[in-house]
Amino acid sequence: MGRAVTLKQHVAIIGAGWAGLAAGVSLAQSGFRVTVLEAAPKIGGRARTLSLDGVELDNGQHLFIGAYRELLSLFNLLGVPEQDVFVRKPLHLRMLNREGHPVLDFKLLGAPSSFHRAMAILKNPSLSWQERFSLLSFFHRLKKNDLLLKRDLTGEAFLKQMAIPSRLSEVFFAPICQAALSTSIQMASAQVFIRVLTQTFGRDHDSDLLFPKKTLSACFPNPAARFIEKNGGRVLVRERVVGFHKNEQNFSIFTAGGVLKADGVILATHLKACLALIEQEARLTKTARLLKRLGYQPITTLYFQYPFLPPQTTHWEMIGLVGTTSQWLFNRSEFPQGTPGLVSVVISGEGPHMTWPKNVLLDRVEQELKSAFLHGNTKSLKRWMIREKEAALYASPDCAECQPKNSTSLPGLWLAGDYTVAGYPSTLESAIRSGVECADLVHGTFSG
Ligand SMILES: Cc1cc2nc3c(=O)[nH]c(=O)nc-3n(C[C@H](O)[C@H](O)[C@H](O)COP(=O)(O)OP(=O)(O)OC[C@H]3O[C@@H](n4cnc5c(N)ncnc54)[C@H](O)[C@@H]3O)c2cc1C
Repeated sequence: MGRAVTLKQHVAIIGAGWAGLAAGVSLAQSGFRVTVLEAAPKIGGRARTLSLDGVELDNGQHLFIGAYRELLSLFNLLGVPEQDVFVRKPLHLRMLNREGHPVLDFKLLGAPSSFHRAMAILKNPSLSWQERFSLLSFFHRLKKNDLLLKRDLTGEAFLKQMAIPSRLSEVFFAPICQAALSTSIQMASAQVFIRVLTQTFGRDHDSDLLFPKKTLSACFPNPAARFIEKNGGRVLVRERVVGFHKNEQNFSIFTAGGVLKADGVILATHLKACLALIEQEARLTKTARLLKRLGYQPITTLYFQYPFLPPQTTHWEMIGLVGTTSQWLFNRSEFPQGTPGLVSVVISGEGPHMTWPKNVLLDRVEQELKSAFLHGNTKSLKRWMIREKEAALYASPDCAECQPKNSTSLPGLWLAGDYTVAGYPSTLESAIRSGVECADLVHGTFSG
């Protein structure tokens, strides 16, 4: 984003998720008049904090990594130092099987460069020699950009083509794919997966894990809204947009409460709401046709409040489970707010668990925690489950062809959101990138 200017054009942003708020912050900083219209009573979209039984819980456990550069630089712009929001730790993947036996311990502790990473792999006792050499050769080709595919295929087919040992696929690649793309390795695009691995392991510290010290709403949506308002903009909740119209001069945006006029519009809703709003507009039929081919994957987050965690289980932030319904466990004793005994469990993607009644799934996962991890009679005091059926874009092998650009064929209208082309899978980073990109395009249009 260029130098601040004193433009007075009014830009309406529909949707106060991280994409819409990122656009709002960037535009407000450049001197635009911004109005953000949010349908829900609370801002933050899919990454917000809820109050359940009086306990502040995020609507989904979110993980951030060092490669989220656009997100980190936007935090800078808000005057929020990284260390106020995150605890940064070198990548450490600890995977256990259902009995709690370690099947992988992959750490890049003290391994900031490619050379150190190679040494960390070579010395890793949780990998066989064949697995170590296979992983080294994979990272070497990744670094040389030597993994370009002529035709996209699934992640699983790609790993087979690369002759990756099946145990390494199961305990290393499949869990990373599921976590980063919210899509199983059997269904995910190999091209998107390779891009994520390149960006995660490409530069030193990009693979660092950033654990939020605050709840999601306190990390970004709330400071972003304050910044927009401080710079003369407005963030309005319970303002569902039901349609818009463009004439020669400007846009009319219709809500239940009335009509808002704006010089430009950034549509920053999730995919389906965007489709509903653009379907009526003849100049956007091509975009609508593409959007209809995109789908979402679910993410389920379960929270268990234990009276305490046994001492042997306290020195960890994140653990992966293999061969269980549960995929990743997060220790929330210290972060975000310091709630001793609180554990969250993430299950990304489709599976039989999506059809199980709530208590059946909670019982199953609690049993898995007990066998693999807690090893005792520890019983939770309270538990919660949040199922987000449309959590992240389904990163299928052909999804990149259908992801829309941020500019549209209707002048003055831009699209922001984690489903747009951002060179990254559907994450907070892609949402932020899309919002900042839209702001750049708005800036270019009105100041050029
Ligand atoms: C459970 C879960 C776990 C996740 N884990 C991670 C993770 O670990 N790491 C990561 O990077 N990402 C993760 N994600 C993905 C991440 O949360 C999303 O990619 C991101 O929040 C998308 O932001 P967005 O602004 O594009 O869309 P949204 O958050 O969907 O925001 C769109 C907003 O538009 C509003 N809206 C819709 N229709 C209208 C209308 N007609 N008028 C006005 N407003 C409207 C909505 O209410 C919403 O607030 C996770 C998502 C979920 C659900």
